[in-house]
Amino acid sequence: MKKQLIEKYAKLIIEVGINPNKGQKLVISCPVECAEFGRLCLSAAYNAGCGEVIMSWSDDYCTRETYLKADGQVFESYPTWKKLFADDLAAKGAARLSIYATDPENLKDVDPKRINDFQRASGKALENFRMLQTKNAFPWCIASVPIDSWAEKVFPKSENAKEELWGAILKTVRIDEENDPVELWKEHIALLTKRKEKLNGYNFKYLKYKNSLGTDLTVELPEGHYWEAASEKAGTGQIFVPNLPTEELFTAPKYDGVNGIVYASKPLVLDGNVIENIRFVIKDGKIVEASADTACDVLKNAISVDEGASYLGEVALVPYDSPISNTGILFYNTLFDENAACHFAFGDSYPTVKDGDKMSAEELKAAGLNSSITHEDFMVGTPDLSIIGVTHQGEEIEIFKDGNFTF
Ligand code: ZN
Ligand code: ZN
Repeated sequence: MKKQLIEKYAKLIIEVGINPNKGQKLVISCPVECAEFGRLCLSAAYNAGCGEVIMSWSDDYCTRETYLKADGQVFESYPTWKKLFADDLAAKGAARLSIYATDPENLKDVDPKRINDFQRASGKALENFRMLQTKNAFPWCIASVPIDSWAEKVFPKSENAKEELWGAILKTVRIDEENDPVELWKEHIALLTKRKEKLNGYNFKYLKYKNSLGTDLTVELPEGHYWEAASEKAGTGQIFVPNLPTEELFTAPKYDGVNGIVYASKPLVLDGNVIENIRFVIKDGKIVEASADTACDVLKNAISVDEGASYLGEVALVPYDSPISNTGILFYNTLFDENAACHFAFGDSYPTVKDGDKMSAEELKAAGLNSSITHEDFMVGTPDLSIIGVTHQGEEIEIFKDGNFTF
């Protein structure tokens, strides 16, 4: 891909995704396979005024070898120095950029117990860090670039898969040769903000989902909930965009107020496994039945890592007609696939209720929000999805018709 376009992308991620304050520190997590792109981001960050950029490198090969060959007890605890690294920089208000690019099948055939153990250990050790991130104490952004293994998974028949994936990604983030993506993103964020304000004005009590896949689900929303979109304000003052690309509007469901049946409309890629045709039966918020055509054991493991993992933590609205959806590509990467379709997540919720960012874990729970060490999106949007909002006065308003917003 042309260097000029890739530089535009790095600049967009830094200037719109992170939008650093003068002198702010930035930690960039980056796989060694995309080192060149990581370096472009580092340069863009210094150009945008960062005081120090700290690289945190990772490597799929080493991760897989370690999961397969290290002592089992390694996964039962989290390294203290890594916890200190995370906590110390978070306390200093350092921004965080994750360049997410991993082989979707990297952890295939790894003992799920090892993965679960490590999730539990890192989840516990990074509790404070995660809480600060969830509350946007500092700006953070996740973005992706192609690597061979991922590109070949997305375009198995292509001679030039990586180039094709670059093309697709640049389309989803609205970059082309002529345009100024930073300007376009300002317009896009304005549209999302308008829809967000409309939804917040309705203050729905329930959302009712229906489509021909068989989804028939009623989702109660907590008192005082609000919808979030695209950009957020960090504790360090600036407006940032946590996910690039982003199309979604999201809030949290009342964790014990979800009832019915929901069918996933796309496969879920989890720990390197592709889980197809997920179906959940949900009663008073709890997933009481879970089935899938592939990797069902991985799914069942994922919804039982703790109590909150079997409750929903996110409700997100994405029009069927949007740049990612229009590519028609399954990216095997949640960052893109979640922005292609309406989705839910099982597990943790963002504190999207009034004063939620000031509440303790107990207060959030009392407000109806789920908590868990996990948070996994699964897609439910289809071209025929209908969503009806029900107000506290019982008025029914159609917000989604044939997969798209009615406003
Ligand atoms: Zn989401
Ligand atoms: Zn999510």
